[in-house]
Amino acid sequence: MTWKNHKLVSIAIAYAIGLPLEGIAVVAIGSIIPDFIEFVFKMKHRGVSHFWGIYALLFLFATYHAFQQPIAGLIIKWTSLGCLLHLFEDAMSKAGIPMFPGTFKRIKLGLLYKTKYPSEAIVALAIIVLCGLVKAIKIYLHTDTWQPTVLFWNVINCQPPLPYGRGLHRKV
Ligand SMILES: [Zn+2]
Repeated sequence: MTWKNHKLVSIAIAYAIGLPLEGIAVVAIGSIIPDFIEFVFKMKHRGVSHFWGIYALLFLFATYHAFQQPIAGLIIKWTSLGCLLHLFEDAMSKAGIPMFPGTFKRIKLGLLYKTKYPSEAIVALAIIVLCGLVKAIKIYLHTDTWQPTVLFWNVINCQPPLPYGRGLHRKV
């Protein structure tokens, strides 16, 4: 995926899951870091810089308050989330991302597009539309939960909109 599409898709996902504005901005920066590292250090295309384990570890570390500084923790959490979204987006391409560095095994989610082909724009647009839809449902239901099962249950039960924060699902 091009850097522009990585940013657009990651911003849409961050918005749909309910991150604050500053979180969305940090995620947008994080969403080009795996390619940026590759570019700066002239590394193999989608090699070690695209190994999910590094960013997953950072994300879990920051999420579980391993950092003394809450702001630093948040920045690391959002940055690593942006990196993970980048990998998720690359994994949907035909080339995929490495399962483990140094092996030929790749993670391929759906083989949906080829980078810089029209299929990339279609996939990016489809994800952005889907995120808009999720956000619209959340606004309608007055909930900020991003759990798909909870959203699905609310929709099929036609749960009426509740005042913000007074419903079953509090702001996360
Ligand atoms: Zn990439």
